[in-house]
Amino acid sequence: MGRRPKDYLKNKIKRPKMKTILQAPKGMPDILPEENLLRRKIFKAVEDLGNFYGFGQIETPVLEETKLFLHGTGPTSEIVQKQMFILKTPGKDLLALRPEFTPNIVRAYLENGLYNNPKPVKLFAWGPVFRYEQPQRGRYRQFWQCNFEILGSADPIYDALTIQIFYNLFTELKMKELMIEINTIGCDNCRPIWHKNLKNYFRSKRKFLCADCKNRLKINPLRILDCKNESCQSLKNGAPKMIDFLCPECRKHFKQILEYLEILGLPYNINHHLVRGLDYYTKTVFEIRLASDNLALCGGGRYDYLVEMLGGKSTPAVGGAAGIERLVEVLKKNNFKVENPYKPKVFLIAIGDLAKQRALKYLEALRKVKIPVAESFAHESLKAQLRQADKWEAPYVIIIGQKEALDNTIILRDMKASSQEVVESEKMIEELKKRFKNDNIENI
Ligand code: ATP
Ligand code: MG
Repeated sequence: MGRRPKDYLKNKIKRPKMKTILQAPKGMPDILPEENLLRRKIFKAVEDLGNFYGFGQIETPVLEETKLFLHGTGPTSEIVQKQMFILKTPGKDLLALRPEFTPNIVRAYLENGLYNNPKPVKLFAWGPVFRYEQPQRGRYRQFWQCNFEILGSADPIYDALTIQIFYNLFTELKMKELMIEINTIGCDNCRPIWHKNLKNYFRSKRKFLCADCKNRLKINPLRILDCKNESCQSLKNGAPKMIDFLCPECRKHFKQILEYLEILGLPYNINHHLVRGLDYYTKTVFEIRLASDNLALCGGGRYDYLVEMLGGKSTPAVGGAAGIERLVEVLKKNNFKVENPYKPKVFLIAIGDLAKQRALKYLEALRKVKIPVAESFAHESLKAQLRQADKWEAPYVIIIGQKEALDNTIILRDMKASSQEVVESEKMIEELKKRFKNDNIENI
């Protein structure tokens, strides 16, 4: 006697079940298919720009030794002071989830001897970065950046080109009313004098500074200009400006960039308070934002000392990074239309077990000749599958019922003409191609 359903029930495995559904870590959103269609558009634009301007794509690990950022991003930067995710390995090494790309790219440039290539070396990258921030609009703990970096030239033409590339990225994505904020923060020759003047100025206003800035006053008064606190912000206007202390070389460099921007017809605003949050910048710093919003879409600048600081030969460099989520937000707001590029030309319907076997084989035959197909095999009835076919808007439907499966035929239905015909399965592809040609359906 065979087993009865009751016997099965008796032996059924009990699996442990979660009482609640788990959530992703705070500030680390999932990226769902619809949003990925938008993101793919962004990455495509990044890739096209990278190719056009002669950049090679680089990928670096998500984890790096913590000291890369302590040394590279800088000990007084907000990132290092407050925003790093640090992991201790079982071997007790300290690794940080990358909070940005530039030090990693410089590390890879040195480690892989990329400095042996003709200069400047142009690299682009994209991927997730991690910062321990309070999640809010445009601010996440895991977000993506795309980067463009140019290593090995001090020429201001590359500062202008970097800005142009980001500007182009945003205009390729149909963004309007963009504003470039630009400033210079000088070099090791002239910045210390500005530093001193800033320190004196803020010291005289100490009582109006927030607790963080009181601390910044001691370690790096430049950072005060970056503070988002209102009372500190209101002090900025009276603060000494770098432009009044520039050495002749930095002055010439800045002037040339502005001339290039004029020639390129790019809208810019010299923002004397722009210093940016990273310690390694020299000379140029810039951000691009929408005129109607304060959140920066991208930021960057020149970092002439970083390669040397990380153990290489003195190598001037310039680059920048854009936040993908901030771009997505603008695209959504602008109702930027993206269609799924995969449009099925055929919808495949199978009714019954034998028909499903045939359908799986036909699906592969169609894939081999690159005819895009959709299916909904989990729906058993013809009616339910036809409803799905309507949703996909495929111009042709192939129906395999019990009879067709046995006869090795298919029913080929022209959805537009509402006509159908029985075709030998061997001739399926030939017939489809013929019809596509008659209908002027491209690609085939
Ligand atoms: P902000 O001043 O807005 O904090 P930042 O100076 O810290 O920006 P960068 O280090 O220059 O930012 O990073 C480059 C770009 O990455 C920013 O212009 C922005 O588009 C994006 N970005 C920075 N932090 C976040 C974040 N927490 N979430 C999402 N995007 C971010
Ligand atoms: Mg920040």
